Amino acid sequence: MAPSKLETISFTAFSNIIDGQLRGSKGHYHGIDPTTKQANWDVPIATADDVEDAVAAANRAHAEWKASTWEYRTERIARFKDAWEAYEEELTNLLLKETGKPRQFGSAEIKSASQFIEWHVGLKEPKGETYDFPDKKIDHKFVPLGVAAAICPWNFPLLLSLGKVLPAVQMGNAIIVKPSPFTPYTALKMVEIANRVFPPGLVQALGGDDKLGPALVDHPDIHKISFTGSIATGKKVMAAAAKTVKRVTLEMGGNDPAIVLPDADIAKAAPMVAMGAFFNTSQVCIASKRIYVHSSQYEAFLEALINVAKTLKVGTPDEEGVMLGPIQNSMQYEKVKGFFRDAQDQGYKFALGAGQVPETQGYFIHPTIIDNPPDDSLIVTEEPFGPIVPVQKYDDIDEAIRRANNSRAGLGATVFGKDPQLLQRVADQLEAGSVWINSYPAAGPQAQFGGVKESGIGTEFGTMGILAYANVKAVTTFKG
Ligand code: NAD
Repeated sequence: MAPSKLETISFTAFSNIIDGQLRGSKGHYHGIDPTTKQANWDVPIATADDVEDAVAAANRAHAEWKASTWEYRTERIARFKDAWEAYEEELTNLLLKETGKPRQFGSAEIKSASQFIEWHVGLKEPKGETYDFPDKKIDHKFVPLGVAAAICPWNFPLLLSLGKVLPAVQMGNAIIVKPSPFTPYTALKMVEIANRVFPPGLVQALGGDDKLGPALVDHPDIHKISFTGSIATGKKVMAAAAKTVKRVTLEMGGNDPAIVLPDADIAKAAPMVAMGAFFNTSQVCIASKRIYVHSSQYEAFLEALINVAKTLKVGTPDEEGVMLGPIQNSMQYEKVKGFFRDAQDQGYKFALGAGQVPETQGYFIHPTIIDNPPDDSLIVTEEPFGPIVPVQKYDDIDEAIRRANNSRAGLGATVFGKDPQLLQRVADQLEAGSVWINSYPAAGPQAQFGGVKESGIGTEFGTMGILAYANVKAVTTFKG
């Protein structure tokens, strides 16, 4: 049966969602359509009173929701899926407007949101272990934390917000979503749709200025922060959360290596590496940001990679054959241009592209490849989060692993080759939260996702993502 639209939702008017109501504000901000640099719709800036009201409503909602069963909450999530699917077309168009992504990928993202929801509908309630001794029985129970705040980035504004809402409510928590000020639109509408099926106050959204994130992290009646964003901001969140001993999940930046082993099939690996490096115009936390290729096939691989990268058409969402959209915002655009300038100033060899980024009507940058820059170059040590990637030569595999691990980040990694044992050995030795073998990096609801080292604390998704929203309580009952 085709899903029905429960109530009309406007996709051209945007509000915060507090205690089941749409709420405006005196102050406004707006995102930019990055394909044109034109302003998108106004969005209210949440005030300090809005924060207080939302936190109070969330605690009220949690008090009831935590007493519901897993089955009841999961059934509500299934209803949310139906409500969600009724708006897929509108949400796709909105996502394209706020991010400039090519339609095929924006549309796939909206569809994958449904798959995320479906995964949660199928999840079993996690149960703690029970130990039965002659004198006592110990039960471990997972109990919800209370109220969570989701602090979200702009690169996948919808999926990364949804990926926090689902486990939070399924585990019995309330959640307040704070979208990135660059991309508030789809996240606000996701929460509006969620309010068609969840009780008032359970899933809320507050958008605003630079004061809002810190206000949520500092608030004593918020019990958990699930943050996705840069390493620099994540460190601030962690430090501030210490004041109230808030639980934190931190999903932060990466500087992911891709290792092309000596026996890799270049024709297969090059398109995968190109996709890993340039998908979403490289604005992906798990994008391949350092590419290590064995010296025996360095030149051939580089040529193959250039040939694939050249075919990646850059343009607006509905242009025929477009593969890459713009950089999402001007701040990031300027930051990425800094990597181009540095590579030019240092005299590195541009295997594809040039040091000058031509001005266009949007924040467009074409895929660019730097040929074998030194290990201490900016393009190797830092995360550009834009379509400029270094390819480096190595002579032996242990050296490649050592160089790949020589980073304070440890989010993801990819490795390409034929020998299954060698692939596993390399995967095991890479210091990363996720490793993909013979594929571009692709996160999804089934696999645990999180970083090691400075890339994060805790994981999302998978089955353990649920437990990021639970405390464990040990109840020991003495017998006789
Ligand atoms: P960012 O750190 O600038 O912002 C992230 C969020 O934090 C935004 O909502 C922002 O408003 C908020 N914020 C800013 N200052 C804050 C403070 N002091 N306290 C609380 N909240 C604050 O990150 P971004 O530019 O939006 O996203 C890009 C970065 O995110 C990249 O480094 C990327 O690698 C990383 N990222 C990581 C993952 C992951 O899962 N590990 C996924 C996507 C993006």
